[in-house]
Amino acid sequence: MAISAPHVYQQATFILSAKALSQLPADIGAEIAFAGYSNVGKSSILNVLTQQQKLARTSKMPGCTQQINVFALDPGRRLIDLPGYGYAKVAQQTKQAWQQLLDSYLQTRNSLKGIILVMDIRHPLKPVDQLMLKWAAMSHIPICLLLNKVDKLNKSKARATFYQVQQATKAYKNLISVQFFSALRKQGIVECHHFLEQHLKS
Ligand code: GDP
Repeated sequence: MAISAPHVYQQATFILSAKALSQLPADIGAEIAFAGYSNVGKSSILNVLTQQQKLARTSKMPGCTQQINVFALDPGRRLIDLPGYGYAKVAQQTKQAWQQLLDSYLQTRNSLKGIILVMDIRHPLKPVDQLMLKWAAMSHIPICLLLNKVDKLNKSKARATFYQVQQATKAYKNLISVQFFSALRKQGIVECHHFLEQHLKS
């Protein structure tokens, strides 16, 4: 079945939340992980990509998902919602625990074939985003960098940010594609599905 068929995404089903790597499904097949700071719109994006309003919980309370959430598209292919990083108000200990979980997932997961790295277009390339980019480049993992909430900026500001981000990520040019996105306006879905289609081939 072609992964591009929209119903494949609509069929996405929640399988489990993992607090440890050992709780994840067997490391076979292909998966794409969604990463980004809390509140950038990662859950909203998962929901619009799968046309399911409640697949990933969207919340105004940042940092509430500290586990790795796994969604199956079909038996060999998965979407992974990584814990939102960088929320200052959680306890230091909790923060360290989920940063470790994130690190070990990124460094050991064989079925990880690509990352959708979500940023709020008004605050792109924050410190952990930069780390994520460096790590992905080192591991040769393709990244689709989504500049979400593009609806919040006027066209010239959005274009200027796009250019700035492209320049700043020039070194990763074979691995990275930068895209505008608006979960609110459902903008950028086709490009995102294309990235999934390209990289979810197991
Ligand atoms: P997460 O913490 O990254 O999963 O972020 P959520 O998906 O929960 O979204 C955080 C907040 O941003 C919510 O209030 C969403 O309604 C809002 N939001 C998400 N995407 C967009 C977007 O494209 N445009 C606008 N204006 N708001 C958005």
